[in-house]
Amino acid sequence: MKDLQDVRPAFIDRPGGPRLCPCGLSFLVPEHYGRRSDFARCQRCGLVFSADMPPEEELARWYREEHWIRYSDEQIGMARTNVYVHAWSWLEELSLIPGVLVDVGCGAGTLLALCRDRGWKGMGFDPSIQAAAYARARGLEVHAEAFPPCSLADATADALTFINVLDHLRNPFGALEEAWRVLREGGLLYIRVPNGPFHLAMLSLLSVVRLDYLAVFHLYGFGRASFQYHLPRLGFEILAIRTAPPSQGNAYDWGGRRAALAARLLKLVDQAAYRVLKGLGLTRMAWGPSIEVMARKRRSGPIGPEHRGAR
Ligand SMILES: [Zn+2]
Repeated sequence: MKDLQDVRPAFIDRPGGPRLCPCGLSFLVPEHYGRRSDFARCQRCGLVFSADMPPEEELARWYREEHWIRYSDEQIGMARTNVYVHAWSWLEELSLIPGVLVDVGCGAGTLLALCRDRGWKGMGFDPSIQAAAYARARGLEVHAEAFPPCSLADATADALTFINVLDHLRNPFGALEEAWRVLREGGLLYIRVPNGPFHLAMLSLLSVVRLDYLAVFHLYGFGRASFQYHLPRLGFEILAIRTAPPSQGNAYDWGGRRAALAARLLKLVDQAAYRVLKGLGLTRMAWGPSIEVMARKRRSGPIGPEHRGAR
């Protein structure tokens, strides 16, 4: 992991200096989408990320102390329940026997509760003190800790999930390396993220009508191509990359009546489009606002930095 830690500050903390992608290549270009110009894109792996990341400490404090205050409705309410049920059903379908599932960024613990109900042992990690307390009050095993580092021993988990988490992290590749360590060989990795290329296009389109804040972009814009590039080098075999089902509701009405109506309309369009894609067998194209990845831990580990430029 040393190489990632060493590489990242080069483009995060020195805006005028060499801009390196976490994949180790320096082929970065500045990007503009709509009214925003604070992006960089790697020409090799396709990853788009914020060129103006908040300092590590500031980010850690926000997720530890503030995130729950602003976003707990999303985690406690029913708006996203179908997302967890869907992820759980897919994992269960691929697993022969109940095992140990680790949910990183578990929030209120909805996925862990599903695990428990089906005979699995669920363990959660979330930096939010309030989220962990809420989940523990439901009788779930949740640690108020960031990830990585993870206190679990090597090869102890049968499945590990990042549901709308990876794109929030300053070092998502360090988190994926830790996931590889914690999973047993053959263990399942499930990831759900906003579809980076889709939301960047929406940033441009919606900026015309000044509704670009409805597009979702945190720190990284993962898309199909960036997962195809990065997961194999990090020691995972990709089983599928698909369009993920939209959440069943909107937890928030942000930005006044006009924005709330637009968000509801987009949600209806999203849900209808997903049904069409699914009906036509096209979810494998990974189109749409959210994508999901199922992968399996391979025997061989992450490829070292000396190999990164060789692909
Ligand atoms: Zn790259």
